[in-house]
Amino acid sequence: MALAEVEKPMDPVLARLENGIRRFRSEVYPARAEAYQRAMREAQAPHALVITCADSRIHPDVLTQSSPGELFVTRNIGNLVPAYGDMVGGVSAVLEFAVSALKVQHVVVCGHSDCGAMKALLDPASVETMPTVKHWLRNAHAALSVAEAVWEPGASEPEMLRLLAEKNVLLQMQHVRTHPSVAGALARGELTISGWYYDIALGQVSVCQAEDGVFEPVLLPGE
Ligand SMILES: [Zn+2]
Repeated sequence: MALAEVEKPMDPVLARLENGIRRFRSEVYPARAEAYQRAMREAQAPHALVITCADSRIHPDVLTQSSPGELFVTRNIGNLVPAYGDMVGGVSAVLEFAVSALKVQHVVVCGHSDCGAMKALLDPASVETMPTVKHWLRNAHAALSVAEAVWEPGASEPEMLRLLAEKNVLLQMQHVRTHPSVAGALARGELTISGWYYDIALGQVSVCQAEDGVFEPVLLPGE
């Protein structure tokens, strides 16, 4: 028997992913087939760009109950956006394309609880052996300076992490505005920006859209 014909044992992680695809095909897709087919008949016209963390616990589509074609999404460690001209890369290109070509009307920068990137900012030694991550996190250093200037003495680690995550979202919103495509769309009144903090354990999102930097929870009726 040739080597190529020896059946390899299935990679357990790939098998798990493929089982998910089978469940999607048998349960999810049939129920929403029309939405998927409609999304493909028309050019995509997402109303929002969501910039969030790569953290596996964040599901932007689920969180906002969005359908295929509604959200343009880019994710990276710490939901960071390099200021214009600092680092030309994926995030900057996504931002420019979303605003200039897709004409999204809203940009969300979404940070979250227990963020590993925020933890690394508080403990730089933890990323000493990861030079790329360490370099990337420079895009958030100003948020650390702001958080350090305002947090209460004796604050707990979760409190510090939340404050830092919020300051980081505010900083990245500033960075978003430095991109010419965004600055132009803002000036024409065609674009708005909001910052979100997602508390994963509570399933709660707080939103900041005002200059005051205050994050207000999205409440249910009667809350
Ligand atoms: Zn994160």
